[in-house]
Amino acid sequence: MSTKTSFVDVLVVGAGPTGSMLAYSLLKSNVSCRIIDKKEAPVSRGHADALQPRILEVLRSHGLIVKALKEGNKINTTSIWHPGPDGKIERVSRIPNITAPRGLYPFNLTNHQGAHEAIFTSELPKYGATVERPFAPVSIAIDEDQIDADVYPVTVEIQSASDPAKRETVHAKYVVGADGAHSFIRKSLGICNIGDHTDRCWGVIDFVPDTNFPDIRTTSQVHSSTGFCLIVPREDDMVRLYIPLDETAHYRDSETKKVNVGAVNPDELLEIAKRAFEPYYMNAKDGYHWWTIYVVGQRVAQNFSVSNRVFLAGDACHTHSPKAGQGMNAGMNDAHNLAWKLIYVIRKWADRKLLDTYEEERRQFALDLIHFDKKYVAMFESMALSGTGIDPVVHSKAVQMFGLFKSGIGIHYAGSMITCSHNQSAARYLIVGKRFPPEIILIARDDKVVQIHDVLPSDTKFKMLIFTGDIHGSGRKELIRSLAERLVEGRLLSERSYISCDRIEMMRMVDTLTIIKGYKGQTMYTDVPESLWTHWTKVFIDDVDITGEQGGKAYENFGIGPEGAVVIVRPDGYVGLVTTLHGVQEIFEYFRAWEIPMGTKTV
Ligand SMILES: Cc1cc2nc3c(=O)[nH]c(=O)nc-3n(C[C@H](O)[C@H](O)[C@H](O)COP(=O)(O)OP(=O)(O)OC[C@H]3O[C@@H](n4cnc5c(N)ncnc54)[C@H](O)[C@@H]3O)c2cc1C
Repeated sequence: MSTKTSFVDVLVVGAGPTGSMLAYSLLKSNVSCRIIDKKEAPVSRGHADALQPRILEVLRSHGLIVKALKEGNKINTTSIWHPGPDGKIERVSRIPNITAPRGLYPFNLTNHQGAHEAIFTSELPKYGATVERPFAPVSIAIDEDQIDADVYPVTVEIQSASDPAKRETVHAKYVVGADGAHSFIRKSLGICNIGDHTDRCWGVIDFVPDTNFPDIRTTSQVHSSTGFCLIVPREDDMVRLYIPLDETAHYRDSETKKVNVGAVNPDELLEIAKRAFEPYYMNAKDGYHWWTIYVVGQRVAQNFSVSNRVFLAGDACHTHSPKAGQGMNAGMNDAHNLAWKLIYVIRKWADRKLLDTYEEERRQFALDLIHFDKKYVAMFESMALSGTGIDPVVHSKAVQMFGLFKSGIGIHYAGSMITCSHNQSAARYLIVGKRFPPEIILIARDDKVVQIHDVLPSDTKFKMLIFTGDIHGSGRKELIRSLAERLVEGRLLSERSYISCDRIEMMRMVDTLTIIKGYKGQTMYTDVPESLWTHWTKVFIDDVDITGEQGGKAYENFGIGPEGAVVIVRPDGYVGLVTTLHGVQEIFEYFRAWEIPMGTKTV
């Protein structure tokens, strides 16, 4: 048996939603990357289904949203059912499914997990890659003496699951374990998972229903005196039911408490669910598309990285209840957070210490998620114990209260070298550490309406948003000109080089967008120094559009006064720095904290 040897910048282990998104993001940015998965074929049904509003925004920033929306099912509404005075279930409220303010997508999008993965994996061939199946690592080792050298310090032996004679030694600069809850990478590196399992066991069935239950196409929480059921509407007229199961049932080992998925019978699950819907009927039209049973594990890995050379992402480093629809979304957000940092370090634009912020930001998020999940699961668990008399008003309020966090829009990264909030008052509502909110602005040259998210794409660049205030105000033009000159002198707006596949590529690390406060008729894009825009489409006005129906609210909604502001948005769309138009020194310091200056010789 001969073992092949190869070299790659990043090896991604696991092609679930997390690994697929990460590999896509890296390959799209010219990083040499391979992705392997131990399974013969991708997921074709079931598993995770709901994408949250924040991830939909991220998909839009990658230009992938049209595809996702076309195939998925939008869920706009949540219905809550409780027993009425006569004991029969009745609807007590019908509320928006998403209550987070100012999201571009006020709904969940459901589809089977394989469809979500394919949003990314179907793009890989464009970059000359594909998921390599069925390959799994058999060993991983990090050469601790070479951690800071520009070499390949991680060695992974991989083997084909279908043909053990196919082995390869992969030398990688970085390895990402996106290999799910039972992560081989996590276990091999001796990283502990901290947390526990809840006791209750839940059943899940996906099927096309034959029913007279009226809220079958909304997320419905049905709490009756004879049972509980959660409905999640899906693609192709399908629904998913979540059903709490009896502790003493035969599919759970009484001693180990482990569930035996093989022992589950979907007809049995539906029979249990039917009790909650009485007097409505609920049958499966054409059998079942998918089913499972699970217990909720709420665990977070002790570390998300070893020596900033091997990283864990997704279920490999955090697990929680599926009911809030968070795991896949959290994994994708891990990928989104890690991708640009790896890209910057591999391009030699950033010091490796930038990678510290991955664990700082995403592990804290995972802990917050477990905290949220405990409260959320507790709500469901208490409803599962039928007859406990949950107050319908309290129930509806609880569902709405969780909205901001659940949507992903509430993610708030703490202060660090890439989130600096010393001058927050310059743009009061552009909260440093939170994602940049959507807003309508106009392109100054042709008054075209633009969603600001569409000029903040996931293209690996930082965006510097210069809010000039009233450019005709006294001393304004001089102030903007002086800012532009200092930025140019400091080479912040220059193109930088990086090597990809032995070729030198050039691109800017920081793109500038200028937003003028003023009226269309009185403002010219030429008022902005040319060095601040790479293209005329990058100068905007905060004014209403020609119909008078949209636009003109950016300064107000962002909390920016007539004196203007400068806002740095990170490549992942989060606000990194807010400062005044005089804050050029602060801008340089922000980048200096982690950037490798241009022209520095690196090892
Ligand atoms: C019933 C149910 C419903 C859910 N619903 C939702 C939802 O609506 N929204 C949501 O956000 N989350 C949901 N989740 C959670 C979600 O499924 C997970 O959080 C998500 O799949 C994690 O993605 P991942 O890529 O990190 O891991 P996984 O999806 O587990 O993918 C890991 C991949 O790695 C591969 N792999 C594993 N080990 C190896 C190895 N040694 N070598 C190579 N490859 C390996 C696997 O084959 C797999 O393809 C649900 C979970 C369940 C059980």
